[in-house]
Amino acid sequence: MSKILVFGHQNPDTDAIGAAIAFAHLQKELGKDTEAVALGAPSEETQYALDHFQLEAPRVVEKAGEATDVMLVDHNEFQQSIADIADVNILAVVDHHRIANFETANPLYYRAEPVGCTSTIVLKLYKEAEIDVPKQIAGIMLSAIISDTLLFKSPTCTKEDVNAATELAALAEVDLNEYGLAMLKAGTNLSDKSAETLLDLDAKSFPMGDKNVRIAQVNTVDLKEVFDRQAELETTMALENTKKGYDLFLLIATDILASNSELLVVGEPKEAVEAAFQTTLTNNRALLKGVVSRKKQVVPQLTEAFSN
Ligand code: MN
Ligand code: MN
Repeated sequence: MSKILVFGHQNPDTDAIGAAIAFAHLQKELGKDTEAVALGAPSEETQYALDHFQLEAPRVVEKAGEATDVMLVDHNEFQQSIADIADVNILAVVDHHRIANFETANPLYYRAEPVGCTSTIVLKLYKEAEIDVPKQIAGIMLSAIISDTLLFKSPTCTKEDVNAATELAALAEVDLNEYGLAMLKAGTNLSDKSAETLLDLDAKSFPMGDKNVRIAQVNTVDLKEVFDRQAELETTMALENTKKGYDLFLLIATDILASNSELLVVGEPKEAVEAAFQTTLTNNRALLKGVVSRKKQVVPQLTEAFSN
């Protein structure tokens, strides 16, 4: 019998890896033969967290292959999952995303809650099963909550996430804020990346009206470091617009300390951007106070502006 594979989504973030490690351990304590795996290598932020708590990065797999039974965390949509997801038996899902494109042949355990992080739900599962969370696992779960909520600054964060993180920080024996900032900073190492790489780290395209809008986001602790490269970034953004057919390219550089974002815009129509954020661009830039979430604070506002 091969092991039950437990994994998060492709291009794994700290929650996809942390929740897989934590949920696999819980299931093992409950008698299941599980192995946490990942559908990609850890990011610099995730690697920092793994190193800090002396955990091995989960084995990277592309297919379940021999393993016929799997458990999903931090995702459910088949497009975001393992390549042969349609051929395996899904025993369980623990997730905090919308449910879409999901269907199974057999009954399963499914736990979905609209909180800021899957690891917040996994902590509840430990409590319900009356299983203790080991120190290292508490550490990686804490890291996942800090990552998904940007240290509680994201509008997706709930009271439950804050309470879970506080409890996990005590178990992991770290100072929540000090460790959290250090971990987030580990994911903001932009200086050694080309403009092209930086603009592609976390970028998505959105059709808006009859325009094709590209929105990239990077986390930083030093907006100046990003905007010292403004000319180089603008040149690359303009080139991408031409090459890929974008009308408008937005870069949102998010200051994770101040919880503001500085916007850089290349392309047209800039009036729609100014209307969306009720601001005036100066030198193609604007400071967006309190904006940290593309999903909740950028895309809906822009979509609205383009529909007028
Ligand atoms: Mn995730
Ligand atoms: Mn998550």
